[in-house]
Amino acid sequence: MTSNLIPSYAPPNLIFERGSGVYLFDGNGEPWLDFIAGIAVNALGHCHPALTSALHEQTDRLWHVSNMFDVPMREQLAAMYCESSFADLVFFTNSGTEAIEGLLKAARRFHFENGQPDRIEVLTFQGAFHGRSYGAINAGGNPAYLKGFGPAMAGFKQLPFADEQAFIDAISHDTAAVLIEPVQGEGGVRAAPEGFLRLLRAKCDETGALLLYDEIQCGAGRTGKLFAHQWTDAEPDGMAVAKGVGGGFPLGAFLTSQKVGQHMIVGTHGSTYGGNPLAMAVGIALWNEITKPETMANVIETGGFLKQQLARLADEFPDIIMESRGKGLLLGLKLHEQFIAREMTGLARDQGLLIGAAGDNVIRMAPPLIITKDHVREAVAKLEKALHTARKSGTS
Ligand SMILES: *Cc1c(COP(=O)(O)O)cnc(C)c1O
Repeated sequence: MTSNLIPSYAPPNLIFERGSGVYLFDGNGEPWLDFIAGIAVNALGHCHPALTSALHEQTDRLWHVSNMFDVPMREQLAAMYCESSFADLVFFTNSGTEAIEGLLKAARRFHFENGQPDRIEVLTFQGAFHGRSYGAINAGGNPAYLKGFGPAMAGFKQLPFADEQAFIDAISHDTAAVLIEPVQGEGGVRAAPEGFLRLLRAKCDETGALLLYDEIQCGAGRTGKLFAHQWTDAEPDGMAVAKGVGGGFPLGAFLTSQKVGQHMIVGTHGSTYGGNPLAMAVGIALWNEITKPETMANVIETGGFLKQQLARLADEFPDIIMESRGKGLLLGLKLHEQFIAREMTGLARDQGLLIGAAGDNVIRMAPPLIITKDHVREAVAKLEKALHTARKSGTS
């Protein structure tokens, strides 16, 4: 069948008609256990009543006025983010890649305003994923994402992930910023050691470089803290969020300290939709749920249980699984090379379980933060069947 869509995606032959909680339902009413949640987006599962009612109420009131006019909900949600984090200032976007763009602009502007306009170099890490805009693909540095899209942009340098010596050798008084995902998502569900984040903070303090976190995937409560870096005391100067903060409604933001964000004055940056009333209504409702202590307690509890079960599978299938990885409810299993992660997600899907693949031949799980231990048991039983199938056929 011909398609009028740009062929940049290759979805399976499967259509979902509705979602409820941790399940999606196809046209036959069959349930699918959703352990990928739109890639860490549906933080409260599908059609959570707090989100649907917030959105329904807002759709009858006001949809859009642009940033030409004030929307009080913007102040409200920005204050909520700042209360939960290091940040003093917030700029709302529609997506993660836009949040990264804004964050990188704010970092360069900071040095410009401080009399160092040439201080533009941003250190990033191999395996990073920061989005698909020009700035973001150059920051990420993945050759597959850069190929054919023109010359590499100046001002980005990728270092080996979590390699202390390589980082110490690379950072200098010319470094504008260091950008890292505290837990890499696309790159293979790899958590940066807490000591590494502390080293980044210390060296940034020493050189005057800014520390920037991409918490687009690992933030919004995914690791059992509102933001993944909050497992350490290594606070950033700026941070990008998206995905889970909207719970399925397009919403992102970049957050900064006063000293960084204050220079983004009128005329320096903008967005037509950013901070749209519909997104704000959903974002506020979502943050109210996420910041309930029981939500984070559930992530820690069920995340710990899932991680334990995945470790058991790794013991049971050492011929297929190399190791289990991740933090909270962002977990992965790295497979031996003769088993392809993307094919393993297909075998899981044959069992009615939806999971994702990530780089480094890892299968990735990022279920809604509201899952119960019964959901975990159901998912692990399905995954176990998929692993048996893979073992029988020798390779997936
Ligand atoms: C998904 C993601 C992005 C890009 O977000 P979009 O909303 O797809 O633009 C950037 N960084 C990380 C860590 C992500 O997981």
